[in-house]
Amino acid sequence: MSDSYDLVIVGGGIHGCGIAQAAAAAGYRVCLLEQTALAHGTSSRSSKLVHGGLRYLESGQLRLVWESLHERRLLLAIAPELVRMQPFHIPIYASTRRRPWQIRAGLSLYALLAAGAGGTRFSTLARAQWSDLDGLRTDALQAVFRYHDAQTDDAALTRAVMRSAQSLGAELLMPAQFLRAEISNDGGVVHCLSGGREQSLHAKVLVNAGGPWAAALIDSIRPHPPAPAVELIRGSHILLPGTLAQGIYYLEAPQDGRAVFAMPHGDGTLIGTTEASFRDAPEQVVATAEDRAYLLGVARHYFSRWQAATEIGSFAGLRVLPAGTDRAFGRSRETMLIADRAERPRVISVLGGKLTTYRATAAKVIARIASSLPSRHRRGDTRHLPLHPD
Ligand SMILES: Cc1cc2nc3c(=O)[nH]c(=O)nc-3n(C[C@H](O)[C@H](O)[C@H](O)COP(=O)(O)OP(=O)(O)OC[C@H]3O[C@@H](n4cnc5c(N)ncnc54)[C@H](O)[C@@H]3O)c2cc1C
Repeated sequence: MSDSYDLVIVGGGIHGCGIAQAAAAAGYRVCLLEQTALAHGTSSRSSKLVHGGLRYLESGQLRLVWESLHERRLLLAIAPELVRMQPFHIPIYASTRRRPWQIRAGLSLYALLAAGAGGTRFSTLARAQWSDLDGLRTDALQAVFRYHDAQTDDAALTRAVMRSAQSLGAELLMPAQFLRAEISNDGGVVHCLSGGREQSLHAKVLVNAGGPWAAALIDSIRPHPPAPAVELIRGSHILLPGTLAQGIYYLEAPQDGRAVFAMPHGDGTLIGTTEASFRDAPEQVVATAEDRAYLLGVARHYFSRWQAATEIGSFAGLRVLPAGTDRAFGRSRETMLIADRAERPRVISVLGGKLTTYRATAAKVIARIASSLPSRHRRGDTRHLPLHPD
């Protein structure tokens, strides 16, 4: 192992691994530091959807939806064992706030944005088919829309991307905890704790892909790179017994009208998510009793099968969103890329974003830092590199 790299990346979530893969494919010498295990943070606690995000149309994030649908198409092609299309169902009841015309308009726009990406045709189910829908409540049901989007195993996808990076020469130092970095004119020295001792690595560019820990990492870099105002938002899921044979259900929480998914997951069903501001250390995040009761309430409202059931598991992750006073739901899900300077950056932080768009984000990071790096011989193109499960 060397102590001098083009890039040192902190964080073995989907973003850190994606950037390692893109950097190695571009021929750069890259080392990734992860303190615990790959996908130990948010990248194993997502809703595990590779999707455009139908609900982001409501907040006008058309560019994000378009890019996500484009990435979905690429991932279906390069990772067919990890990313699979699933039917999604949207039931509309007399009391549902979003009316059929709104859903039809949203799905039409979604299909339009997916043009060329395929697979987003939608339909309404005939009344005779409602009884096949995994015990979904049918009283006051007015319509059920069906469309298609993709589901994955987020942690397995993250590991697959890192394996691809390593096959192209990227190095992984794990467990290795980033301690601090000193930035000078032509790069920086990165200090980490690995194998019980402190090590120093030289990097032309330091990439901060610390997810919810990213703000704390910025505090340990001298001089401090810019830090945008962000907020951590806890999103919880519960696991219920028994699976859903017909795919995924896109439900409107009766409590507050938020979108909540019910998704097959192994032998069980995942219900998620919630949105609540979080101010403690990221490693302390758990699904609270309040979150669990809210999600169980949604599941019991729509499915008779869970009237007497309780959850058999739960987990929570943290979204990094631009700070604001409005509801988290409406805030931008675009990835924030914050460099220490416009020309020849030496530090770049990746904040927020989506699992779905990790590859596009990694390509943008490489484009932003290319002026700080020597020219190298390209070894691959992430649009075509196959990804395989463990
Ligand atoms: C509830 C929820 C649901 C979501 N659902 C979806 C979805 O369905 N589809 C979708 O596309 N996106 C979804 N997202 C978004 C997506 O999950 C995240 O954008 C993505 O996982 C973030 O990855 P990351 O690599 O930036 O961060 P993380 O995965 O959190 O990785 C950060 C890593 O940095 C490491 N680290 C931190 N500090 C140090 C240190 N000092 N030294 C070394 N390593 C360190 C951590 O251990 C961690 O592994 C969801 C997010 C949430 C919260």
